[in-house]
Amino acid sequence: MKILLQFPEGLKKNALSEAQKLEKEGHEVYVSSSSCYGACDLPMDEARTLQIDKVIHFGHSKFIQKGLPFDVEYREYYADIDVEKLKEAIPSLEGKKRIVLVTTVQHIPQLEQMKSFLEKHGKEVLIGKGCFTAHSGQVLGCDPTAATSVSKDADAILYVGDGKFHPTGIRSELPIFSLNPYSGQCRKINEEIERIRKRKKGMMLKALECRVFAILLSTKPGQLCIRAAQDAKKKLQAAGFTAEILVSNEFNPVSIGNFPQFECYINTACPRADEDSELFDKPIINAVDLDEFLKLYVESGSG
Ligand code: SF4
Repeated sequence: MKILLQFPEGLKKNALSEAQKLEKEGHEVYVSSSSCYGACDLPMDEARTLQIDKVIHFGHSKFIQKGLPFDVEYREYYADIDVEKLKEAIPSLEGKKRIVLVTTVQHIPQLEQMKSFLEKHGKEVLIGKGCFTAHSGQVLGCDPTAATSVSKDADAILYVGDGKFHPTGIRSELPIFSLNPYSGQCRKINEEIERIRKRKKGMMLKALECRVFAILLSTKPGQLCIRAAQDAKKKLQAAGFTAEILVSNEFNPVSIGNFPQFECYINTACPRADEDSELFDKPIINAVDLDEFLKLYVESGSG
């Protein structure tokens, strides 16, 4: 079988040994060296050019399986944590009985242990399910809904994992705590989420001065959403703006900056792009926030 291996940056160190194992089994093996941001980001060009039978994607959980010209196997990567580190969250959770617990795929095998630990400390633990995630309790940067799907009667949300991208995508009025299971640091992140929300609002206020919009449509198979791009274009045109769709696998701020006529970007791809907004010299608004922008436009009296 012709197999193409794909690794996110942090796991590329395992490529040689994984390739050799499969070669010993008699497969024809190739390794994609392209950048890889997530499970949404399969190496389509390499797979099509080489007429690959199967892509093995390491590090992330199942995301896209249908409609591809090859088979895909997602091999998750786990990082064991010391569950006792959750004790650092207990003082923050004092007085809060019902806790929504979420984490990333790396720690999913220990979710039950984390739940038991919190239960031993008198908590009732709620575990929700996201829209695109493979596991209950798992959040993605583009799908934090496991945190809010069961939060109606909860008192707090606890995210266990490192990094800011996953927990700061959670939208909830509840107190949200982020526990780094390596350092043991537990922080309430509502203010940080509010800062991000204000930054997004600031971006929208800047965009009120723009008339020509580029809608960014990524060809990465898990990000490609032609309907969202077309809807965004129609809505902008109906509001009197000029809008065109720019298509690329990945959006490089320098190369899209070479289209001087566009004054603002509407991003239908990974929400991480607007987190990295300082790299772009023009306002960038995620497509999910477009209605809010258009409402602001009407309220501002410009529309
Ligand atoms: S769209 Fe972004 S957040 Fe979602 S899986 Fe892909 S890289 Fe991760």
